[in-house]
Amino acid sequence: MSERWTQAPRVAVVGGGLAGLAAGCALADSGFHVTLFERRPFLGGRASSYEHPGTGEVVDNCQHVLLGCCTNLVKFYRRIGVEEKIRWYDRLTFLEPGGRASVIEPSSLPAPLHTAPAFLRAACLNWPDKLAIAGAMAALAPMTPPDRGESFLTWLRRHGQTERAIGRFWKTVLVSALNEDLDRVSVPSAAQVMRESFLKSAAAGRMGVPTVPLTELYSVAGDYISMRGGEVRLRAGVDGFRAEFAGVRLLFPGGEDSFDFAVLAVPFEVLSRMLPQTSAAEPLRQTLDQLETSPITGIHLWFDRQITDLDHAVLLDRTIQWMFHKSKLVAPASRRQPALSAVEGRGRPAPAEQCATPDNGDQQGGSYVELVVSSSKTLVEKSRAEIIDLALSELREFFPEARTANLVKSTVIKEVHATYSPRPGVDLHRPQPETVWPRVFLAGDWTATGWPATMEGAVRSGYKAAECIAQVAGQRDATFLAPDLPPRGFMRLFRG
Ligand SMILES: Cc1cc2nc3c(=O)[nH]c(=O)nc-3n(C[C@H](O)[C@H](O)[C@H](O)COP(=O)(O)OP(=O)(O)OC[C@H]3O[C@@H](n4cnc5c(N)ncnc54)[C@H](O)[C@@H]3O)c2cc1C
Repeated sequence: MSERWTQAPRVAVVGGGLAGLAAGCALADSGFHVTLFERRPFLGGRASSYEHPGTGEVVDNCQHVLLGCCTNLVKFYRRIGVEEKIRWYDRLTFLEPGGRASVIEPSSLPAPLHTAPAFLRAACLNWPDKLAIAGAMAALAPMTPPDRGESFLTWLRRHGQTERAIGRFWKTVLVSALNEDLDRVSVPSAAQVMRESFLKSAAAGRMGVPTVPLTELYSVAGDYISMRGGEVRLRAGVDGFRAEFAGVRLLFPGGEDSFDFAVLAVPFEVLSRMLPQTSAAEPLRQTLDQLETSPITGIHLWFDRQITDLDHAVLLDRTIQWMFHKSKLVAPASRRQPALSAVEGRGRPAPAEQCATPDNGDQQGGSYVELVVSSSKTLVEKSRAEIIDLALSELREFFPEARTANLVKSTVIKEVHATYSPRPGVDLHRPQPETVWPRVFLAGDWTATGWPATMEGAVRSGYKAAECIAQVAGQRDATFLAPDLPPRGFMRLFRG
């Protein structure tokens, strides 16, 4: 710590999602006195779990996965000691209705050709589809194209993609990664995903799945802050702030408190309400007004028997996009631990509908699967019963065993404002961590990280904000951000 400070600078972190937790842990580790304020009674924000009131089960608000290229998230896991709670997969199974499988996995060929043999074998695409995809990949490999206001769907059509290549490959990968429809996705956002996860190296494309509920994974970060002299205050909503000459004053329902620095790591629409009513705040408020959100829906089904041997699968050509076999992925003890109930607020799961009897078959040879629909705009207005009916009838097309299995219980969790929409031009409206107030910094998956709204993007934003604070506080060499994975094979020839 710099000589200027006679005692550890006090940093307020507002928001206990991944952005706030990453910032708080990095700063606590660097000698700052961190106080983290979280409005809800648990940590994790949009990546959290709770005991679902209707089913009595511990459920994630939605299945979360990461990729090998998420270097900052992996560094964060290592820092807080939960790295071994992620299980990694090299192969993805794409299922067509009817059950035919195509497995995409890396080979020993140099990047970006490492998945080429699997692609050539994939039954879900024909030769014109594969040639078209190879052509578009070749266009994306050397560099990320600039944002000219064009949607990625238009870009794909300009690059000769067949309808099946768009539907079964591009849409499948990108709608899940970016949570938006291709006609609303910017070209750089799509290119970033394809380059980082598909082209750069085999290691970058591995998929990681948590083996414990999300709040169990992330609450450890609160302990990490406390053990370094910091404080984590739950059920502690912050209403606003007042920037001061050499600090910041946080405003709470019942009072206020001063800090040397603040990281505001709340969703963008919350930040908009938190900004002071001053002309200095106006440009940021206008920037935030430009951001929009897109929904994700998770459908949780408990059956009286196994419906598949697969741990997870990509589901083609239907509304449901992914199947996660939760009873294989998460230890039963973790799913049954007492946990906090859902509370009010953004990201609050909509009231869930319980179908059938509340008796979990999963202990007696039953199974629990979660189906995920990203960019689930068509489901937002549907009732829970309609969504479950639709999901069941589609699921039975992929897994014949589901036709005879009895549904024991079920629930639907709609996250209506799941993530910001990465539409063309969006990067103009994603702010850097620095603000007009020298002691106030921003973090969140929606800030300018160069990454989509993901756990990795959130952690990057937290580390960026923490680096800014450490540097202002005199730690000139503070570096919290992890380097990207290096490109392998022929990808080393490209810089962009
Ligand atoms: C359904 C769903 C599925 C997803 N799937 C994936 C996935 O598979 N992989 C992936 O990488 N990402 C996924 N994401 C995205 C990922 O969850 C987010 O990008 C990330 O968690 C955002 O973290 P954050 O810290 O930026 O924001 P948040 O998690 O929103 O954290 C903000 C925190 O601020 C708190 N807060 C709000 N107001 C106040 C206040 N006034 N005072 C104090 N605290 C306040 C909130 O309660 C919250 O805890 C998914 C998101 C959703 C919703």
